[in-house]
Amino acid sequence: MPAWTDLGDGVLVRQSRAYQMNSTVVVHEGRALVFDPGVLPSELADIAAVVERHVPRFENVTLVFTHPHWDHVLGKPWFPLASTVAHVGFADEVERDAAKIDADAKAYVEGAGEPWPRPFEAFEPALKLRGTVGLRIGERELIAYDMPGHSPSQQSFYLPEIGLFVAGDTLSDIEIPWLDGPPWVYRRSLQALHWVFEQEQVKFLVPGHGAVARGRTDAYKRLLRDIDYLLLLEGEVGKAFTKGWSLADTQAELAKMGFVGKDAAYSMNDVHRDNVTHTYEGLLEQADLK
Ligand SMILES: [Zn+2]
Repeated sequence: MPAWTDLGDGVLVRQSRAYQMNSTVVVHEGRALVFDPGVLPSELADIAAVVERHVPRFENVTLVFTHPHWDHVLGKPWFPLASTVAHVGFADEVERDAAKIDADAKAYVEGAGEPWPRPFEAFEPALKLRGTVGLRIGERELIAYDMPGHSPSQQSFYLPEIGLFVAGDTLSDIEIPWLDGPPWVYRRSLQALHWVFEQEQVKFLVPGHGAVARGRTDAYKRLLRDIDYLLLLEGEVGKAFTKGWSLADTQAELAKMGFVGKDAAYSMNDVHRDNVTHTYEGLLEQADLK
């Protein structure tokens, strides 16, 4: 499979060898937006070279980060002078996790047979976004949606003029919702996207990992499938919890559930198991509050 996919309208998506992670480049009127440049150094050099061909001055490049997990935040040093955009909570998270981001990146990159050129350095985005907000960068309009549930500071982005939705780590065809806390937080985030897929002419949905969804219907199906997964997870863990089952018994029972990426080469089994734990712990917390 070629690394680059040209979606037209100046939109280029590069898929990494690492977890099929996607970086999205949007070129327009002498400017470029680059979402989540990553992952391997050779791939970052390739993305920087392609961007440079379209936009030779990196002052005219804006890097947009969907969330502060290691595979999404490594690209900044490859784009000196580029501006940066992320959620207001992003800087605190990368600062807190900088050592782990560096260790995870180094281990992965060296495992993939490439040298890790420099330690990861935490950074503060030049433009910090709060909540669901519209902005204009150069001549492109951009709507940012708050998407907590996978990371507290995750955002998805919609570019209405070209029907492009950059999802971050949601709405993947190879990953289930990957929780960092109770599932209802994630579900609330997804609910807000109903209106995007109802009202907007979404042409392409680029997930953090996996294949691009083409057209509104395909995108909408992923949304419904992920909400379905979360509802089933909550329902089944809730039943076990009400019966007084232990976490271990609940995990064993919920391992029978069907989900995207079950027993796949890129397996979601451990993620599902952790999701069960987050759900169970969320119920424990609620019970404690009563
Ligand atoms: Zn992530």
